[in-house]
Order: sequence, then structure tokens, then C-alpha cells
Amino acid sequence: VRTPLVVGNWKMNGSFERNQPLLESLLSHLAQKRLPEVGVCPPFPYLAQVGALLAETPVRWGAQTVSEHRGGAYTGQVSATMLKDLGCSYAIVGHSERRQYCAETDDAVARQAMAVLDSGLVPIICVGESAAEEAACQTLAVIDRQLAPVLLALAGVADEGASVVVAYEPVWAIGTGKTPTPEGVQAVHTHIRAALDAAGLVQTRILYGGSVKGSNAETLFALPDVDGGLIGGAALDAQDFSTICTAA
Ligand code: 13P
Repeated sequence: VRTPLVVGNWKMNGSFERNQPLLESLLSHLAQKRLPEVGVCPPFPYLAQVGALLAETPVRWGAQTVSEHRGGAYTGQVSATMLKDLGCSYAIVGHSERRQYCAETDDAVARQAMAVLDSGLVPIICVGESAAEEAACQTLAVIDRQLAPVLLALAGVADEGASVVVAYEPVWAIGTGKTPTPEGVQAVHTHIRAALDAAGLVQTRILYGGSVKGSNAETLFALPDVDGGLIGGAALDAQDFSTICTAA
């Protein structure tokens, strides 16, 4: 059985002043509720603050990206072991905004995922097609291409299956209020599930991300191969995010 997981990706949002009331409100909304595994991923400068506020609570925290390198002369980069020092449980890798704005390649994303795993954290590996790729019926081919180096790197560490998470985020659904139909989401997740299972990664969870809200979370999370969600905008609203968490 795979434990459902809901992770909030704050993207480049937050401040010392705003983070504390957001998390306090979230914790009060989540109190006494039956919860899945829940995490939040603030920007790097707030990881220590968020970690201090969430220590001794059921909510975990993580980073939005990470270096593929272990250490050394890489100005501006942050290693997975540094994230471990900050008490992180997760690092998101290969988010479409990183692929788009920072030119991260499929191979680089796979190396980041392995650096995260080697440090004992859980990589949340994002895949998903653009609007143009979707229009050209390239969705599954794009996902196969993005996953290939990850599956290759994971071959032989199949017992790490529980420690890896894949997030399917159609780029055209991110921040747009549009989502695929439930059948569309399920079709892609079935495809990813089959690829993971064939690689022995039966415990790997598959999250859906892209315009998840309190109002559509239950429908999306009820799909058989959806193990939870990766939440952007709605993660900045304590009430909406808590509704999403309890739907998983
Ligand atoms: P939205 O939930 O704002 O569409 O963002 C999804 C996302 O990119 C999470 O990583």
C-alpha cells in the first residue's frame, strides 16, 4: 500500500512575516484530522524558519530544487546534504519552471534525483508535457523521454522505490485553472505506473499537479493511480491546502 502524499510547492513566494501565520493557520486546520503524509517546500532562505515552526508537527518540509553536485566550486548552488542538515524530507527536482527557465535537461534532473536519494531524502521528480506537446499528442512520449534517465539511474536500486516520488504536472495545467479530465489524468498515471512497476518501483508514489484546489482534489485523488498531489497556488491558502490534504 502506498501512503498518500500532498506537497505544497510555494515557488518564489513567502516572507518571514507571512510564513509563520500561514503555517500556524495550516496546523490549526489540520489538527484532529486524519492526514496523509503532508509536506511544504518553501524557498531556500525560509527552510530553517519553516523547519523550526514545523518540528514536532506531522507536516514535513523540503526544497524546490537541488544541485546535482555533492559539493565544491558551484557558486550559488545548494547540495542535498545541506538540505539534510536543514531537516528536509524532500527535494523537488525537474519542475517544469526549472526545465523552462533554468534549462535543466532530463539527464541533469536524473542526476539531481540520485544526489537527493544518496543523501537520504526523497526526490519528487516532476514530468509533464507542454501545451504544444499535448496538442501534438506527444504526452506519453514526452513523459517516457523525461523518465528514461531516471529509470536508468534507479536500475539496481529497486528497493529504493518507496523513497522516490514522481509528480505528473501537465505544464498547461500549472497556474491556469485548467486540469485534464479525470480520465486524462488516469490515463497518464496508468502509463507512468506501468513504467515504474516494470522497473521494480512498485512503491513509488505518483502525484498529480496542476491547478489542484479544494474543490477538485477529491475527484483527482480518488483516481486509482493518483497517490496524492503537488500543489502550487492553493498551498499558499491554509484553508484550501488543508482541504486538499484531507481529500488525499
Ligand atoms: P498550481 O497548483 O498553482 O497550478 O501549480 C502546480 C505546480 O506547479 C506545483 O508544483
